[in-house]
Amino acid sequence: MRIDIITCLPRLLESPLNDSIVKRAQTKGLVEINVIDLRQYASDKHKSVDDYAYGGGAGMVMMIEPIDRCIEELKTQRTYDEIIYMSPDGERFTQPIANQLSLKRNLILLCGHYKGVDERVREHLVTREISIGDYVLSGGELAAAVVTDAVVRLIPGVLSDETSALTDSFQDNLIAPPVYTRPAEYKGWKVPDVLLSGHEQKIADWRYQQALERTQTRRPDLLEDA
Ligand code: SAH
Repeated sequence: MRIDIITCLPRLLESPLNDSIVKRAQTKGLVEINVIDLRQYASDKHKSVDDYAYGGGAGMVMMIEPIDRCIEELKTQRTYDEIIYMSPDGERFTQPIANQLSLKRNLILLCGHYKGVDERVREHLVTREISIGDYVLSGGELAAAVVTDAVVRLIPGVLSDETSALTDSFQDNLIAPPVYTRPAEYKGWKVPDVLLSGHEQKIADWRYQQALERTQTRRPDLLEDA
């Protein structure tokens, strides 16, 4: 899989993509992530990627030309399954969307900044728009990092225990059950006996029951969706 992230602030993506699981996935060759500096595609000597909004008002707007040139160049090299604009008014990012994207071969994530991008980018250049939640960030970079992380960890071979992504919250519309590690007792606070029993079936039943109860109390909407 290949993910190309287009941004005018590449430094914002350095640390989230170069550590831990996402880093390891790249080292193992399971994903190739390229952060592309949009300013390389600017046409003036100041490397401008934004301009004043037509009609006036506060805030700059990202110009279509550098974005188009960048996407055009990438498209000459390979076919993209999706060209995704990160946008607060896009489709809300969820686990099913992460699952779906993890099966794709080539993705572009376009990060906006300032007041966002010229509307013609959205009308003509992108295939999909994704929001990571109902709040406004100053740029699409952190949102792109969130999507990249959620997608990359689902690629087979990325997590060392292949089943572990499947037992996370939101897979099967259930919240994950509680987990514990040593010591078995701390300040009098005990780990549930069943987890120490060594009885696989009982442990599995307990976990399922806990997941169900947690979902009922914390996210009953998930059970309605199922
Ligand atoms: N004026 C716009 C917000 C622009 S925020 C509006 O009111 O809708 C600047 C950029 O940050 C956006 O272009 C987008 O790429 C990114 N961004 C902000 N919030 C986001 C969110 N919740 N999800 C995904 N991207 C977001």
